[in-house]
Amino acid sequence: MGVMAIILWHFLGRPSADDVKEFVGGIDFGDFTDVLKNISDYDWGDLAFEEDPFVGDNTTNAWKTQGAGLSLELQNALDDMWQSEFDIAVADWQESEVLTLTTSRVAVDHSCGRVDGVMLVCNGNFGDTGWVGINEVEIEYQRQDGPGFIISSVAKMNEYYLNNADFKKRRYTMCHEIGHGFGLPHTDENPHNKDLGNCLDYTSTPENNQLPGDANFQRLRSIYIRGEGDALGGANGNANGNANGNANSGGSVQQQDSVVTSGGGNNRLRGRHLSSEVVSDTGHREDDEGQYYRRVIIRHYLPLME
Ligand SMILES: [Zn+2]
Repeated sequence: MGVMAIILWHFLGRPSADDVKEFVGGIDFGDFTDVLKNISDYDWGDLAFEEDPFVGDNTTNAWKTQGAGLSLELQNALDDMWQSEFDIAVADWQESEVLTLTTSRVAVDHSCGRVDGVMLVCNGNFGDTGWVGINEVEIEYQRQDGPGFIISSVAKMNEYYLNNADFKKRRYTMCHEIGHGFGLPHTDENPHNKDLGNCLDYTSTPENNQLPGDANFQRLRSIYIRGEGDALGGANGNANGNANGNANSGGSVQQQDSVVTSGGGNNRLRGRHLSSEVVSDTGHREDDEGQYYRRVIIRHYLPLME
């Protein structure tokens, strides 16, 4: 524990380790007393979308594989209220012949700590942030001019909007965020046009987009089956997403302090029309052995849509 953590620990009355986790950043993500009664009560303002289909970032990311499909562990850190949505979404994604998924139920973690090598799925009250779900994929580059690969993924369900939302909204959000964890992009980011029938399509009618669709499965093939499309390319040199500036490319390898380009400590989206962004970038670094590395975290947003 660092000095600040110890001070906080005393300040909080020396709670157990589990309690401390919930107070990351002084925010209790496990307190559901202040959540929306119903998502449809919410006036979500004038966030304007174009009329035509579009995607801001159509890039795929990839876990490192041998080109014969993706085997991945999903750690279930959700509380009891989310078990059905999780089980259904995992079963739905497992319909892809590309995916071999295993699940393990771990301690409920409302602060959603990332774990190397797995996709962690969690829920918490992240507040009136403007997003109902996000997935943060962490990408590691081991060569300056080489591709980066996903090394962890965290899928978060925001109780502020979803605690009292109907099952279809919760199921859609779960399917959507798990899909990003495989490296998939959105299929469309206009919630007001025709629904595409897959859960990576933004929609204001989630009942139409409950399941992964052929577009998603085809994209998975192109990422993870050797000889199909852009297989095994990983993320190329530049951090993708709507990166705002600090993703440095080229130049010499050097030590550099962590660069965080995030718009806010509590993942706020309100008032911003944004589907993804780079929220953390270590920049080019060398470890003690002179090994190059760089880590980037890309956050995909699922905005509140009515
Ligand atoms: Zn998304």
